[in-house]
Amino acid sequence: MIIDSHCHLDMFDDTDAVVARAKSAGVGCMVTIGTEIDDYARLRAICDKNPKSCYMTIGVHPDNVGLLSREDFDCAFGNINEDHVIGVGEIGLDYKDDPSPEIVRRQREAFEYQLHIAYTFHKPVYIHTRYAFDDTLSIVAKYPSVRGIFHCFCEGVDSARKVLDLGYMISLSGIVTFKNAASVHDVAKYVPLDRLLVETDAPFLAPAPHRGKQNEPAYVTFVAERIAELRSVPPEVVLAKTTENFNSIFIASS
Ligand SMILES: [Zn+2]
Repeated sequence: MIIDSHCHLDMFDDTDAVVARAKSAGVGCMVTIGTEIDDYARLRAICDKNPKSCYMTIGVHPDNVGLLSREDFDCAFGNINEDHVIGVGEIGLDYKDDPSPEIVRRQREAFEYQLHIAYTFHKPVYIHTRYAFDDTLSIVAKYPSVRGIFHCFCEGVDSARKVLDLGYMISLSGIVTFKNAASVHDVAKYVPLDRLLVETDAPFLAPAPHRGKQNEPAYVTFVAERIAELRSVPPEVVLAKTTENFNSIFIASS
């Protein structure tokens, strides 16, 4: 059994078929991640259809924080204590498209507030960071009792060490299967096996040999196999450890 710790099942036209293919590929659990203020009902419907195999998070991605108020966030998180909601995310900072001071300010404020919610409700967080690693880390460090995952990790070993020092786990996506991703290969070898998770981020970022096509949770096996190859361990070891790690962070906090 393998777990896809981060995917977006609501972004497929044929979610039922995607979930069925994942299950027959041995993916025992998929977490469909919140990104918007109003995607709760969509994600909840997917979880209801797939009890014990699909779980969800609530969170607003930094690209979507716009002009949301605290009341908007409080409303979005109104269902945080339901059984199928296992965490807060994806939240964080993304300075790629527009690093203007006003956008940066809004993203930081929304990020902090959602960390505060995670702290209040004792939920793990999914962190998204792009072109904003140092700022992300300094905000995360303000909430030392919050735990979680840096998802789709694309930074180098130095950054990985800082994330581990804060007590977070590191999740690798299909990028680890790309030939030109040397620094992610180094991270795959560096992170202790008990701090590692695997994900697809589907429908984005399909791993080799499907690179460039639509990704789906069934392909998470390619991610695990490539990590196993890089670490010179049998794939079963990566499957077992990443599943155990996932359970330790999510089951323990539920
Ligand atoms: Zn994502």
